[in-house]
Amino acid sequence: MILLSPGMGVTVSFTPQMEKRLTQRAVRMLNQSLRQFPELRNLDIHVGHTKTKLGVAFIPTRLRLPLYIRLRVRGLTYNTIGHELTHLLQGLTKLPSPEGTSPWEPLPGGETQCDIWTLARSELFCDDAPTYLRMPRTVRENWRYYAGRVRSLCVEAIRHRTRHRTYIRWLESRIAELPEHGPVSRADVPEQLSLLL
Ligand SMILES: [Zn+2]
Repeated sequence: MILLSPGMGVTVSFTPQMEKRLTQRAVRMLNQSLRQFPELRNLDIHVGHTKTKLGVAFIPTRLRLPLYIRLRVRGLTYNTIGHELTHLLQGLTKLPSPEGTSPWEPLPGGETQCDIWTLARSELFCDDAPTYLRMPRTVRENWRYYAGRVRSLCVEAIRHRTRHRTYIRWLESRIAELPEHGPVSRADVPEQLSLLL
């Protein structure tokens, strides 16, 4: 078992199957992703491998460690890692937070919600289009040109949510309007985002 501590006091271990497939790139991506999740501080995460899906998370219904996700190493994206880690929070934030830690910010369940909260969390997770959030084909196919604006809309939608129950519908309709404004030029793509792509 490989153990690594990517800062924030998170301990990550891998299944033997995953260890065989693990690349330096995947470890680096996992480390960077975990830094965006301070809520997972002091928790243990076990990472397995999946061939058939991009990723899988076992949403915790009680705090039994380690938490468990599975990832596909081939074609791994930050978006997938972020999505699976957000699923962990969907379960965890329904539980009392561990002693000595600040209370968890509640996070709604559901796949689309998971995509929205993942994109909103960090630009890091904008390297690929999310799976469940609905968007026009042209936005998906030209994701790198739209990612920044979709992310901003996700942040806005989360704020919106306290007042409007239909925030997902609001968000998807705003995303659907994006192509009418034309794709942004490369110069408008945030610097950090273009570095990641
Ligand atoms: Zn999911």
